[in-house]
Amino acid sequence: MAEIHHLPRRRKQAACPVCKKPAVETFRPFCSKRCQQVDLGRWLGGTYTLPTEEEPDEADIEALARRLEDSEN
Ligand SMILES: [Zn+2]
Repeated sequence: MAEIHHLPRRRKQAACPVCKKPAVETFRPFCSKRCQQVDLGRWLGGTYTLPTEEEPDEADIEALARRLEDSEN
């Protein structure tokens, strides 16, 4: 059975694919949660929004407005 060799050197630190800073263990392969979410957003939609600036969907607002109108009539 082959032994697992522990390399004396530290594993080469990967760079964050988003901003190229050194990756952080917690968020590998990214350097931060922000970059992790940026990358996820790119995968999901091609464009990304900042997670802290989430805005309600325009369609949702429209539907809500329509519902309010209906209840008034
Ligand atoms: Zn980064």
